[in-house]
Amino acid sequence: MITEHDRVQGAFIRESSEYGEPIGPEELTAAKWKAIVSNDSKFDGRFFYAVRTTGIFCRPSCKSKPPKRGNICIFRHAEQALSAGFRPCKRCKPTGQRLPDEDWISVVTAYIDRYYMQPLNLETLADVSHGSMYHLHRTFKKLTGITPMAYIQQKRIEHAKELLKHSTASIAEVGRLAGLSNLSYFITLFKKVTGHTPASYRQLTKQNREESTNGESS
Ligand SMILES: [Zn+2]
Repeated sequence: MITEHDRVQGAFIRESSEYGEPIGPEELTAAKWKAIVSNDSKFDGRFFYAVRTTGIFCRPSCKSKPPKRGNICIFRHAEQALSAGFRPCKRCKPTGQRLPDEDWISVVTAYIDRYYMQPLNLETLADVSHGSMYHLHRTFKKLTGITPMAYIQQKRIEHAKELLKHSTASIAEVGRLAGLSNLSYFITLFKKVTGHTPASYRQLTKQNREESTNGESS
């Protein structure tokens, strides 16, 4: 499966652009960095900055929280950022157009898919996707049928199930690796979602494997 991350990274491998310039990032100079952290609108139109961790690109004046310097790519033209796989920011609209809700939510789900094992909450997601918590919660639910937090927990439980099936990591370690480092919360949530405790789930899948003649389980 090609992830959003691969798509963004892969795009940098392509070399040419319609401008005949390298499509890859330009240098992040001290002046550009200063423009980004001070939201300096004098630089709007002179360059755009994209953030690798979120897949979003912005105008220098964007009022969003400044990203980590090491995660930034600079593009001369918005089209270059687009063809490198970045999506325009919902807040500063670097292409001049409104970002469709579907694209905005794709940014958020791609971010969750990459970082669900880390501490995440609605505020973090709103920050990285450049929207308000309220609007994000509402739009996410409208488009996917579940809330962002439920989606995160779903990813974590899926990961935990895989680890319980295919690794010998302790239950606490499985929880930690899946982003649920509070052990009692992990056990409670896991049981609520799957009907089993992590330990009994592991036991069950092990039994199923042993009973299966060719040694494969579903
Ligand atoms: Zn922006």
